[in-house]
Amino acid sequence: MQNKKHFRPTKAIINLDAIKYNVSQLKEYLKPEVQIMAVVKANAYGHGDVEVAAAAIESGATMLAVATPEEALHLRKAFPDIDLLILGYAPVSFAPFAATENITLTVFSLEWVQQVKELSLSHPLKLHIKVDTGMGRIGVTQIDDLRNLYNEITVSGKLLVDGIFTHFATADEEDDSYFHHQVSRFEEFLSSLPKKPRLVHAANTATMLVKDQTLQYDAVRFGISMYGLAPSDYVKTKLPFPLQAAFSLETELIEVKKVQAGQSIGYGAAFTASEPSFIGTIPIGYADGLIRKYSGQHVLVDGIRVPIIGRICMDQCMLLLPTAYNIGEKVTLIGKQEEEEITIDEWAKKGDTINYEVPCIITSRVPRIYYKK
Ligand SMILES: *Cc1c(COP(=O)(O)O)cnc(C)c1O
Repeated sequence: MQNKKHFRPTKAIINLDAIKYNVSQLKEYLKPEVQIMAVVKANAYGHGDVEVAAAAIESGATMLAVATPEEALHLRKAFPDIDLLILGYAPVSFAPFAATENITLTVFSLEWVQQVKELSLSHPLKLHIKVDTGMGRIGVTQIDDLRNLYNEITVSGKLLVDGIFTHFATADEEDDSYFHHQVSRFEEFLSSLPKKPRLVHAANTATMLVKDQTLQYDAVRFGISMYGLAPSDYVKTKLPFPLQAAFSLETELIEVKKVQAGQSIGYGAAFTASEPSFIGTIPIGYADGLIRKYSGQHVLVDGIRVPIIGRICMDQCMLLLPTAYNIGEKVTLIGKQEEEEITIDEWAKKGDTINYEVPCIITSRVPRIYYKK
């Protein structure tokens, strides 16, 4: 976990102690035999997959979950032995690699299994069957299809039904009816199997924390709250323990200038000073994930909230400052300065989106710097 030398002052700081705290809080909340699957897809929601996974494992996670074959291979290099599940689609052509690397795949298609059986695999291939109980994304929708799929897998000596799971569409909402409908459908699927697979799992963060604590089964898939974020405003009001946000975003003022009333700033001259003003430039723009929609969002300078003004450029944007700060003055886009804090949730509101999306779209041009005590 060596942090490389970076020249541009723009950086994301990832607090691994916060990740550890969040995972250990969750662990106390679970039955002792229930496994924590740390969901580290999409480079751990933009936080850094290997470092977050290591912190999660240190705090009690026993499995990792990702979305793609490439993500799985990347983590396998760093963690040769941990259980590793791809929650999303893996093409047939990946199956031999998965078998060799001991990567567990999600399966929902009979044709997929038939094609994989034609291939030569160096080791047994572990599979989790996905059932679609109402999410409408991937998964088997009919009991008969589940039975056929199960039989097709189990008659082969090379393939193993290691688990079965589903995903809830409304676990983060107050209304329970659709959620309960999915739970009973999942139970129907489970009872149609001749034998319970080793790992039954259904709960994401929202299910576990606020919806139904009894739905732990054999494992829970712990994503957004591991990063210290609530899955929705509703869940935020119901959290059983406080979360610690792990992601901060910082840069520095690289230029400060005084402009007169009537002078304009940036592309399209979209901002015009109404009085003599101080304008600061920071080296972060939409190519870093600071999308143009965020114009107007506040950031922190010297413990004070100041707005981003005008259009956000590809690599830079401008701030309206209360006074002539020095070049090099720290600017916090996400995180705390003195008494003030700007949260990922606040950025999400400004961007008309959910908190999940905010760190995910901070691009790889922004280095992730890891912090732990
Ligand atoms: C992303 C994902 C999760 C994690 O969800 P959170 O809301 O972040 O806890 C769990 N299960 C599946 C299938 C997912 O795709």
